[in-house]
Amino acid sequence: MSEQGRVAVITGAGRKNGIGAAIARHLAGQGTHVVLGDLCAEPPSHLVNPGAGQWQELQEIARELEGLGVRAVPVRVDVTDAAAVEAVVTMTMEQFGRLDILVNNAGVVFGPAPVAQMQEEAWRKTLEVNATGTFLCSKLALPALMQTAGKYSRARIVNISSLAAIRPKPYMAAYAASKAAVVALTQSLAQEVAQYGITVNAVLPGDIDTGFKRWGLQLESMVRGQALEEVVAAAVGQIPVGRLGLPEDVAGLVAYLCSQAADFVTGQAINVTGGRELVQATMPESGR
Ligand code: NAD
Repeated sequence: MSEQGRVAVITGAGRKNGIGAAIARHLAGQGTHVVLGDLCAEPPSHLVNPGAGQWQELQEIARELEGLGVRAVPVRVDVTDAAAVEAVVTMTMEQFGRLDILVNNAGVVFGPAPVAQMQEEAWRKTLEVNATGTFLCSKLALPALMQTAGKYSRARIVNISSLAAIRPKPYMAAYAASKAAVVALTQSLAQEVAQYGITVNAVLPGDIDTGFKRWGLQLESMVRGQALEEVVAAAVGQIPVGRLGLPEDVAGLVAYLCSQAADFVTGQAINVTGGRELVQATMPESGR
């Protein structure tokens, strides 16, 4: 399978400074056509959430990528809506005749709180988008991925989990549980579809400097009663590499997993954290 002319569907790609757009940029730079999905609306909830990619921004990202000489198709899609996801897969096969890569990147945090105070709705919505959304997109894309793998001998699913899956922080139980579910789904599905030439891997980003992360750091600064700069410095202080990650750091790993070089890599959960998990975690209230 040449890296040229492949087709990728990337969910949650509606923010210019987000991980999804960085993955799309990297793959498009290698000649992969991209279908860029995003909710493109305020999340349907009153619960605290950093918001969502917007249609205007998604279209601008698509135009930028077309400048790289590939086709880039922006689509509104809610990954929790099976009919909408199926429509994206159908559109992709009608327009391109193949689907080589699915990147499940859409993700949310609704209403972080201690479990004792967490709203049931926040738990359910976080699990619905992060875990069920990844399940639905994978399930509904599989027939197209199998068809493509049959013709070109390989296809890929890459799931964007989180370091939270293996190093859950307080107040983030729903998010951590949803991202752990993504890892388990990855490992189960990888075994089911290896025979068809499809690899399935999970990527676990640490602190990656996006709008989503900045929102998380702001929340932490409120919880700790510390200035944002202090919270950022403390976060960086716990990363051996000495900086926050960049969306491009994640994109490079995803591109590797999508490449021919990763033919023998499946069912893996790979950290891209600057070594963060090697450092002791601290409690929000005490700074311990
Ligand atoms: P982001 O907010 O820029 O990207 C998430 C995108 O998902 C948004 O554009 C949003 O509109 C979209 N989305 C939300 N609900 C959706 C739905 N129901 N259907 C379709 N799209 C939906 O944030 P990001 O930091 O780029 O995060 C991307 C992924 O990386 C997420 O899965 C996140 O959990 C994960 N992650 C991020 C970090 C980090 O530090 N930034 C760390 C670990 C994991």
